[in-house]
Amino acid sequence: MTPVCPFAKARPDDASPRKPGENSNKLPAECPFSKARPDDASSRKSVENSSKPQAENDGNKAKNDSNDSATISPKCPFGYDSQTFKIGPLSCVICQALLFETSKCVPCSHVYCKACVSRFKDCPLCGADIEKIEADTNLQSVVDRFIEGHARIKRSHVTSDKEEGEAGENKKVIYEDVSMERGSFLVQQAMRAFRAQNIESAKSRLSICAEDIRGQIERMGNTSDLCSQLGAVLGMLGDCCRAMGDSASAVSYFEESVEFLMKLPMDDLEITHTLSVSLNKIGDLKYYDGDLQAARSYYVRSLNVRRDAIKHHSNVPSQILDVAVSLAKVADVDRSIGSEDVAVDGFQEAIKLLESLTLKPEEAGLEQRRLSVLEFVNSQLAEKQTESTL
Ligand SMILES: [Zn+2]
Ligand SMILES: [Zn+2]
Repeated sequence: MTPVCPFAKARPDDASPRKPGENSNKLPAECPFSKARPDDASSRKSVENSSKPQAENDGNKAKNDSNDSATISPKCPFGYDSQTFKIGPLSCVICQALLFETSKCVPCSHVYCKACVSRFKDCPLCGADIEKIEADTNLQSVVDRFIEGHARIKRSHVTSDKEEGEAGENKKVIYEDVSMERGSFLVQQAMRAFRAQNIESAKSRLSICAEDIRGQIERMGNTSDLCSQLGAVLGMLGDCCRAMGDSASAVSYFEESVEFLMKLPMDDLEITHTLSVSLNKIGDLKYYDGDLQAARSYYVRSLNVRRDAIKHHSNVPSQILDVAVSLAKVADVDRSIGSEDVAVDGFQEAIKLLESLTLKPEEAGLEQRRLSVLEFVNSQLAEKQTESTL
């Protein structure tokens, strides 16, 4: 999933499920939800080894940094909110997210999401043999109402404007839409479900989230916050579809994600990163689909976004690495379509970039990544030259 929670601006834990059929000689597909730069052309080993768990909400600096004292934080009547969500009676202990397609085990009556418990023969809570599972529509409707309820929590905003509210009791109370809080809550739930491979659940939460943001865009127009949030959520929906093997829907979500991200100023590195990753993901899907020309054109678009990003931020090593990765992706597809010379040029340009990049000792993670990308590109070049001498 585009590695950034669009609300919390935090990178979610790495949870990339690998597709079994992935060819190890190919560039790895970008991993959903990965906090490691996902379109890493380096070997997937290094991506996995280097991924350290990271707090989901590093900086709870969602929005409203203004900390207006007159603003009362919304409180969920159930004690669930986006920052302190606890596993409760409405959650599944397997995926640690709100129940989705709630199913009750027979005979022990423990409840889980359908997709989660279907992988077990014995109840994970009590160990009883599961004879069958039955839909628990009552409990599910409580969960659904709970999610709906989160949309209606209003934040009361008392104006401090003296002129308007001289008498204390006349203070104006404005109810603000807090669907942003619901947004980060839903994204958190979706990420948990996705990590636990309950993709349907993740997709369902994200769809609600996307609808919320679309509704806000209708009311407030294409503000950059809303466009970047929607762009990111649509990217996550694309990841869900891809994980479900529905590449046509994945492509259309990624396309739409690109469309919203393109509305934004290109001087924000998070945005250019998300945009270039979405473009690469479409490229990957086209690549695996055998449409190499289309793959190439998306990889090139991604490369161009990254080249432009370097123009704005010339000394950000991760950006330079991103450009090298993009060069390798384009070169790889060039080689596949028989443009040998162009491919060699691309690989060589990537090597030049990587070799000229010197990192500080504290950037050990990036250095590891630089070396693995370099190793990958060198091996591609060597492979190419071996072929041509045959
Ligand atoms: Zn579950
Ligand atoms: Zn049980």
